[in-house]
Amino acid sequence: MMSCKEVLQQLSNIVDKEAPMMTRLSFYLHISMCRNCRKYFEQFKQVKETAELLEEEDFSEAFFDVMERALAQVPERKETSSHEELEGLPGTSD
Ligand SMILES: [Zn+2]
Repeated sequence: MMSCKEVLQQLSNIVDKEAPMMTRLSFYLHISMCRNCRKYFEQFKQVKETAELLEEEDFSEAFFDVMERALAQVPERKETSSHEELEGLPGTSD
């Protein structure tokens, strides 16, 4: 099952019908259960439709605006980081 972040990353591929069938299946399965992603899918489709009447530049701006807001709503998932954040390393500073 896709995470919300993966779903949002696929929005553009789904709307453009470029995503493979398996991706589309997981996508629709996810948004059928996830209200947030469904909302952003609807928004994205609207942006996309509007964008088709606009220049490409305007579209990327609108797109990133929607994406930014969408991703801001996704709860942070703890990624398994392979390394610790290096802090306070003794080093040369000027
Ligand atoms: Zn979701």
